[in-house]
Amino acid sequence: MKTYAFGVDVGGTTIKMGFFTTAGELLDSWEIPTRTEEDGVHILEDIAASIDKALEEKGISKLDVEGVGIGVPGPVGPDGTVFRCVNLGWDVFNVEQRLSKLTGLNAKAGNDANVAALGEMWQGGGKGYQDVVMITLGTGIGGGVIIGGKILAGVNGAAGEVGHTPMFDDEPDVCGCGKHGCLEQYASANGILRTARRWLEVHPEVDSPLRGMERYSSKDIFDLAKEGDEAALAIVDETGKLLGKGLATIAGVVNPEVFVIGGGMSKAGDILLEVIRRHFRPYAFHAVRETEFRMAELGNSAGIYGCARMVLS
Ligand SMILES: [Zn+2]
Repeated sequence: MKTYAFGVDVGGTTIKMGFFTTAGELLDSWEIPTRTEEDGVHILEDIAASIDKALEEKGISKLDVEGVGIGVPGPVGPDGTVFRCVNLGWDVFNVEQRLSKLTGLNAKAGNDANVAALGEMWQGGGKGYQDVVMITLGTGIGGGVIIGGKILAGVNGAAGEVGHTPMFDDEPDVCGCGKHGCLEQYASANGILRTARRWLEVHPEVDSPLRGMERYSSKDIFDLAKEGDEAALAIVDETGKLLGKGLATIAGVVNPEVFVIGGGMSKAGDILLEVIRRHFRPYAFHAVRETEFRMAELGNSAGIYGCARMVLS
């Protein structure tokens, strides 16, 4: 094993770059803009140039670098082919081959949600485990499945898309994916607002500070729940019930050692873990009932950790 590795997490506006030891220490991180013009043709060139510059500044030879892992916002096939990253302007091509050619380094590519899960397994909330499912509760619900220390990508790179687990048949609103009644429509940081609005409509007899607020966020709901507000507690409970049910389904299929919960909504902390765990247990098959729950620890850096980890196996 060589001494260093790069992890590169490509987002729609910025590219996060991480320089690691192969033992898992983040030595340096920085960002460069994502140039999406001309169908994103400059993105990999910019990454290669940034790697060259960093190595030159640090006085480190490429011979000491194990490789570069790259996470992209879209599905990635097992051979490193990306299938239309619409946010980047990319069509279908082999990102590993092209990045390897540009950098002269071994390159590995993965979907951004999957690499974040791998990062949390390596150095975050899933550290010490090999079978990890990560759930990211943000504007939507993302996920990544790690089995035996490796990303489970699926044939189309779509494994771990837990946000689109069907929950209800009678949902009038359409999900971002085009379906109706997906888990993320109710239990993401945006979805909980829908859950809240409906709960307040159905329970006009319950007063709550939420009724006086023109706009509220998922954080407001969790803050009020922590203060004991009846409506907020019920909304959090409903959200936890849907998440618990969804995760019980996943646990019965994947049987992970641990669920790692991340994303903006996870800042709510223990109250969220508690309510998910409480509802998970009765829905879960008996043999998976003791699955552990942990908070993610790496925040926005989970992706670069996971990218670096990809090139070490
Ligand atoms: Zn959906």
